[in-house]
Amino acid sequence: MDADPQLHTLVSEEMSRQRQTLEMIASENFAPVSVLQAQGSILTNKYSEGYPGRRYYGGCAHIDEIERLAIDRARKLFSADHANVQPHSGAQANAAAFGALMKPGDTVMGLALSHGGHLSHGTTMNASGTFYKAVRYHLDSDTGLVNLETVARLARQHRPRVIVAGWTAYPRTVDWAGFRHTADEVGAFLVADMAHLAGLIAAGVYPSPVPYADVVTSTTHKTLGGARGGLVLCRGSLADRIDAAVFPGHQGGALNQSIAAKAATFHLAGRPGFVGSSRFVVNDPAVAGIHATVLAALVSRIRVR
Ligand SMILES: *Cc1c(COP(=O)(O)O)cnc(C)c1O
Repeated sequence: MDADPQLHTLVSEEMSRQRQTLEMIASENFAPVSVLQAQGSILTNKYSEGYPGRRYYGGCAHIDEIERLAIDRARKLFSADHANVQPHSGAQANAAAFGALMKPGDTVMGLALSHGGHLSHGTTMNASGTFYKAVRYHLDSDTGLVNLETVARLARQHRPRVIVAGWTAYPRTVDWAGFRHTADEVGAFLVADMAHLAGLIAAGVYPSPVPYADVVTSTTHKTLGGARGGLVLCRGSLADRIDAAVFPGHQGGALNQSIAAKAATFHLAGRPGFVGSSRFVVNDPAVAGIHATVLAALVSRIRVR
C-alpha cells in the first residue's frame, strides 16, 4: 500500500468490482485463500528450469518437494499415470501436447471455434493453426450436438495425427469412448481438453477422459476453481515426450508459486465440500440450461464469502 499507492488503488478497485458484480463468465472462478497465498508467495524468487531431481539450478530441494506434491496430487485426483504441472496456462498445455505428438505440418482435427472450440485447437490466429494443418469439425446443425459419424468421416478423409475432444462452449456430455474409437480407427492420438470440465471431473460428477485419451490437457482456474495455470496428464508411455515438450520445448523456468498454488487447488478439489458443490452444479434442475461453469463459479463464490 505504501510502496505503490497508485497500484494499490487499482487493485482495491478491482476487488470492489469483483465483490459487487455478479459475473456470469463461464471460464472464471474465485480462488480460495490458500491458493492466493501460494501464488503470491516468495516461491516466485526461485529459478528451477528442469524437473524435480534434475534441475539446471542449485537450491531446488524444497521446490522439488513442492512440485512432487503437486504432481502426486494431480495424479491421484484424476487417476492419471503421469502429470506435468508446469504449463503456464491452458493454451500452453495444448501447445506442449501438440508439440509432443506432432511435427510441423501434421494434421490436427478440432471443433471449429465458432461452434464452441478453443483458439488453441487449430485456429488460424493461433500458432496451432499455423504450425499444423488444421481440419475443423462442426456441430450438427439439426441437433446442435457433436455428431461422431461426421467426425469419423472427416477423420477417415484427412487422417489426422491428433484429434481433439473437449471444448470451451459445449454444456453436454462428451462421448470420450466414441472419440477413442475414431482415433483408433484412423491411428490418431486423442487429446482431451478438459479445461472447462476439470472441476466436475475431479469431483466425479462428469465422465473422465483419462481412461480414453492419450493426453489430457486442462486449466486449473475454471471449474477446478484454483490457481491460474495449465496441466497435462498422459499415459506413462508418453511421459518423457510430454515433459520434454513442456520444458524445454515450449517454456523456460517453472512458475513455482503457481505450481504450489496448483498443489493447493488439487488438495481442495479432493475434499468433500468440493464434491458436494460440484454435485449441486450438475444436479439442480433449476439451473438446467445454465452453463455448468457459470454455476460452479457462483457456488465457489458463495463458499468463499
Ligand atoms: C480456456 C480454455 C483453454 C485455454 O486456457 P488459458 O489458460 O486461457 O490459456 C484451452 N482449452 C479450452 C477448451 C478452454 O476452454
